[in-house]
Amino acid sequence: MSQPRVAVIGAGPAGSTAARLLAERGADVTLFEARRLPRPKLCGGGLTPKAQRLVPREALEVVERRVERVELRAPHLGSFRIEAPAATIAMVERTRFDLTLVEAAARAGAEVRDATPVLDIVEDETGVAIRTAGGRFAADVAVVADGEPSALSRRLGLGGTPHRLALALEVDLPFSSVVAPETAVLAFGLRGGYGWYFPKGDHANVGVGSYRASEHRRLRGDLARFARDLGLDPSAGHVRGHWIPQGLRTGPLASDRVVLAGDAAATADALFGEGISYALLSGVAAAQVIGDWADGAIGSLQDHDRRLRGVLGPALDRLGAIALVAEGSISVALLGVRLSHTVRERAIDAIAGRSAPFAIDGRCELACACGLHAAELAPRALFVEPAGCDRCAWCLAACAA
Ligand SMILES: Cc1cc2nc3c(=O)[nH]c(=O)nc-3n(C[C@H](O)[C@H](O)[C@H](O)COP(=O)(O)OP(=O)(O)OC[C@H]3O[C@@H](n4cnc5c(N)ncnc54)[C@H](O)[C@@H]3O)c2cc1C
Repeated sequence: MSQPRVAVIGAGPAGSTAARLLAERGADVTLFEARRLPRPKLCGGGLTPKAQRLVPREALEVVERRVERVELRAPHLGSFRIEAPAATIAMVERTRFDLTLVEAAARAGAEVRDATPVLDIVEDETGVAIRTAGGRFAADVAVVADGEPSALSRRLGLGGTPHRLALALEVDLPFSSVVAPETAVLAFGLRGGYGWYFPKGDHANVGVGSYRASEHRRLRGDLARFARDLGLDPSAGHVRGHWIPQGLRTGPLASDRVVLAGDAAATADALFGEGISYALLSGVAAAQVIGDWADGAIGSLQDHDRRLRGVLGPALDRLGAIALVAEGSISVALLGVRLSHTVRERAIDAIAGRSAPFAIDGRCELACACGLHAAELAPRALFVEPAGCDRCAWCLAACAA
């Protein structure tokens, strides 16, 4: 089957990326989004370089500020700043950013149905049947990228419990007068998480998050304290919260005809709670496995589970382990970042994507379609065997940026 009919559910970074790549390879793609677009998404909107590399150029036109200076804070240690151009964070508002990803998918040929929640999904050996308020829809395969808590993957018996589940609260406030301009703040000391201050175009996003259930009741107070430390009045904005599932889900991430991507698969990391880059990458993986299935290279989509765990698992496990160790003594960990060039570089590597699965591997230098990105691109042949590397979906996604 060369041109499968694909239903992609959820127009966040994961779903829109899968929809765009599949439409580009000629699939008949329908992207279902529950809400009317553009829709807001609760998020700090900090895009690391690894996320920036995986989106089309138009998505970077809505970046409101680029921040390469970060102030790190911890109890008993005070604060210090690091400058890291290689780890520049691009600050976006998700409403506009996500819309650019949907528009790119539409330009590639995907049909976008917004304000169309998928109410039910059923899979059999011939395909996938979807029910919306507007009627029924049949597809050969589906990408479920409906975010947390991903009701649809549960409906299908996929996904299950994430390795960790962070709760994050955030509020939009004016800029702080005690933070230097063009500087983000990461404040540690909270068990299982941290606080952030992200300057955007005309305001700052201030938040706290933790994967420790014991901290969740205290988070509102932690957020208020952190805002006051920044010289801000926490009651000047509306505090909202949402979950960030991290470290992959323990149950299956795919069946014969359905794959999970993004928060639906719990692809965020447990150290920074960073979800966008991993969601984008899992969208690439989803498109790749469906492409391989359509080409007849594999008989079912179940291989997505093995691939996603193989590609993301080691990095997510490593960051989860670092989170645990750092939590044991955050001051010592940050002292390491402050005093040791090696430790600092490793931390910058993780943010910049200079380590696997985002690391450059010489094998794929020729795989960059446009030739312009060869020196900077991540791609190892992530989802193809090295011997068979022929411009994998990863490279195609990166070249579109
Ligand atoms: C407070 C907070 C701050 C964060 N800050 C950052 C940050 O600074 N940087 C970072 O990298 N990550 C951050 N994250 C994590 C990041 O927001 C997520 O990991 C990321 O959005 C996941 O993308 P996704 O495409 O999987 O899901 P989402 O972006 O959640 O998109 C899922 C989409 O599916 C739609 N949907 C749901 N159900 C249905 C249905 N039945 N039918 C049709 N559509 C449906 C939803 O409306 C939504 O549009 C933060 C998260 C939170 C909660």
